[in-house]
Amino acid sequence: MVVRFSMLASGSSGNACLVQAHGFGLLLDAGLGPRLLASRLSAVGANWSAVHAVILTHTHGDHWNDRSFHHLIRPQIPVYCHALHHPGLRQSSPAFQELREAGLVRGYEEAQPLKVATGVTVYPIPVRHDDAMTCGFRIEVTAPGSGPAIAIGYAADLGTWQPELAAVLANVDVLGLEFNHDVHMQETSGRPAILIERVLGDRGHLSNAQATALLREILRISKPGRLRHLVQLHLSRQCNRPTLAQKAAKAAIAEMHADVQIHTAEQFHATPSLDLHAPPLSSITMKKVAAVGQPMLPGWE
Ligand SMILES: [Zn+2]
Ligand SMILES: [Zn+2]
Repeated sequence: MVVRFSMLASGSSGNACLVQAHGFGLLLDAGLGPRLLASRLSAVGANWSAVHAVILTHTHGDHWNDRSFHHLIRPQIPVYCHALHHPGLRQSSPAFQELREAGLVRGYEEAQPLKVATGVTVYPIPVRHDDAMTCGFRIEVTAPGSGPAIAIGYAADLGTWQPELAAVLANVDVLGLEFNHDVHMQETSGRPAILIERVLGDRGHLSNAQATALLREILRISKPGRLRHLVQLHLSRQCNRPTLAQKAAKAAIAEMHADVQIHTAEQFHATPSLDLHAPPLSSITMKKVAAVGQPMLPGWE
C-alpha cells in the first residue's frame, strides 16, 4: 500500500495539499484558483479527476478560493468543513452557497474521526489560530484487513502549541508543520506593529523556534524511526528564509538522534510528492495507534 503526499502550494498567497490513498484523493485546503490548482496537480502527476473531496483547515482567504469552490459543483466533489466555518464562508463565498444547495457541504467536528473513504480517516485537531475554528489534521490510512498503517500529521496555521497537540501528532510517517517566521526578522520587518503583534501572538503563526520545539517534543514521544519526513509549511516570504527554517529543524533532528528528511514547501511551485509505504505489520499494531488517538477526546482543545 502506498500513500502519496503532495504539497501543491504553501504560504499566505494560497495553500493546498493532496493526499492520495486507495485511489481516493483528498485536498487539504483549496486556496488557489482552479487553473492554478490544475497546473500544480499536473506537476505532481495528478489532475482534477484525482480529487474526490476537499477538507478545510479554516476560512482565512489563503485556504479557500471561490472559483475553486464553483469548480467542485459539476464533478460533485464535496467540501468538508466545521459548522463554525459556515457564517464566514456564506458571507464571502457565493460558490459556497451553491455547494450547500447542491448538497456538497459536509461537516466535521473537532476530535471526532471522519471517515472520508474506505480506509481513510481524518481526525480534526483544533489549534489556537485566529479564525472562528482552525484545525490541523491527523490522517490515518489502513490497508484492508490490517491495523492503521500510514499516518500523516498536518498543521499549517497554529500560533502556539500545547503538549496535547504534540501527542496527537506523534507517531506519524510524515509531518506537515508550520515554520512561519524567524522572530528577529519579524520584529525588524518594518511591518505595522499590530501585524507583528498578531503574527507573534498565540493565535497568529508559529515561528521557526516554536515549530522546532514542537518537532523536538513530537520526536521525543514518538516511536524511534517512525517520523520519516518533515514538510515545512507556510513560510513567510518577508520574515523567513528556507535556509533558516531548515537549519532550525536540522538541529532539532540531530539533537534527537532522529533520521528525518526535511522538505520545505513553496508558494509558487508544487513540492515533489512523497510516497509512503506501509511499515511491516509487526512494527505497528492497532492497539498502539488507538492509544495515540486517545488525547483526541471530545472537548479537547
Ligand atoms: Zn494561512
Ligand atoms: Zn490563517
